Amino acid sequence: MDAPEGPFGTKEAPAVIQSYYDKRIVGCPGGEGEDEHDVVWFWLEKGKPHECPVCSQYFALEVIGEGGPPDGHGDDHHHCERILAPEPNKTLESSQINV
Ligand SMILES: [Zn+2]
Repeated sequence: MDAPEGPFGTKEAPAVIQSYYDKRIVGCPGGEGEDEHDVVWFWLEKGKPHECPVCSQYFALEVIGEGGPPDGHGDDHHHCERILAPEPNKTLESSQINV
């Protein structure tokens, strides 16, 4: 997950976070030097600027895609079938044939 970069967001000039959907999770690492803090994660929604509770940095969401809810994109961590794994059985069979 990428943390926002660029100038510190303020109420007048929020840090703009781009998203393909109407909301996304954003992590705030604070400002530089003494303003830095452990990353705080929160949902940022379109049209709802968010103020970090720790450093009071402001974030605003910019939708760069089709918008809509981010269903099926990270909310559910029970999908494990897409993990790519080698198939050792096939490799074994083909090597046996070659010998
Ligand atoms: Zn912060």
